[in-house]
Amino acid sequence: MDEETYHPPLPEAPHVYCARCGTSAGTSAPPTWMCAVAQGVRQYFCESCARTHIRAIESRLDPASW
Ligand SMILES: [Zn+2]
Repeated sequence: MDEETYHPPLPEAPHVYCARCGTSAGTSAPPTWMCAVAQGVRQYFCESCARTHIRAIESRLDPASW
């Protein structure tokens, strides 16, 4: 019964989450995921969200970070 609330302590292992649907990719984004930088913050999008929202994602790119 306690397995559902199990949270392993990983202080130095940030997880990658899809910025739109919140899907977790583990500690590193797979090559199929899209990475975008918006206002200095790196965001990841899962494969399905990247395909669906690629234009919106690209339009949010922060030119100052190029
Ligand atoms: Zn997603």
